[in-house]
Amino acid sequence: PAPGLTPDYPELLHTAREAARETAGQGRVADYIPALATADPDAFGMALATVDGEVYGVGDWEQPFSIQSVSKLFSLALVLAHGGDRIWRGVGREPSGNPFNSLVQLENEHGIPRNPFINAGALVVTDRLQSMTGDAAGAVRDFLRQESGNPLLDTDPVVAASEAGHGHRNAALAHFIAAHGNLENPVETVLDRYYAHCSIAASCRDLALAGRFLARHGLRADGSRLMTGSEAKRINAVLLTCGAYDAAGEFAFRVGLPGKSGVGGGIVAILPGRAALCAWGPALDAVGNSVAAVAALDAFTTASGWSVF
Ligand code: GLU
Repeated sequence: PAPGLTPDYPELLHTAREAARETAGQGRVADYIPALATADPDAFGMALATVDGEVYGVGDWEQPFSIQSVSKLFSLALVLAHGGDRIWRGVGREPSGNPFNSLVQLENEHGIPRNPFINAGALVVTDRLQSMTGDAAGAVRDFLRQESGNPLLDTDPVVAASEAGHGHRNAALAHFIAAHGNLENPVETVLDRYYAHCSIAASCRDLALAGRFLARHGLRADGSRLMTGSEAKRINAVLLTCGAYDAAGEFAFRVGLPGKSGVGGGIVAILPGRAALCAWGPALDAVGNSVAAVAALDAFTTASGWSVF
């Protein structure tokens, strides 16, 4: 759109939905957490929340879904807000070419996970947030409630129990990290609180509103400051390089925005200075990113001409 003209957000979202529709039949719903396997592969929603408070949506944008690894963006933000740079002693910030639940790099790295968005790194972040707040999952939930204005947003206990019941890999990661002295809390507590924040159910609307602080250089919905502009910039940088599993390069190539995906099929993406977006479709590609959500975000940035590049 020409500078100074208000973009036609509903039209852009319509374009995005059409692109998502064209992916029908592609990808598979995650089933390694059995409770996620019941999601409707054809569901699709997308929301956009502007820095000055407008919200637009299309499709199933108000339907809650399991946010899964999208929660890792919020746990990292809260740890940085509460504890500043200390977190970088326990977790790195380089992309990992390995799958999200990989144990491979951890051994070479002496229990210091490569970045905060692979499961190993997210477990360390959850551990520190647990030390800082006494309830890491409650802290993430309360933040999402406050930013979205949705008091009903909560952990889905069925999904949390399903994750815990099939969590051997995450337990192995947590024990390995603990063996290197990089957890402050008992492994059982860290895993329990990690599953609880991954199992939060929220809608595209909720998540676009909750992600807005990253488009507003650290300012929360109520105008208070969560973090400095420089910290928000750093989170956006880690999202760009590490937010889409081992396909962060492909995501940057197609979408051109910092973003975080989850195996529930949601992706939150940030247009710094303008808006936060959330797209959702449960069917995933081979690395775990939603086929429909990536297609929708790709179409959105292509049609609008907006990206961080
Ligand atoms: N709770 C999920 C797990 O630990 C998160 C996976 C994801 O969304 O990447 O396997």
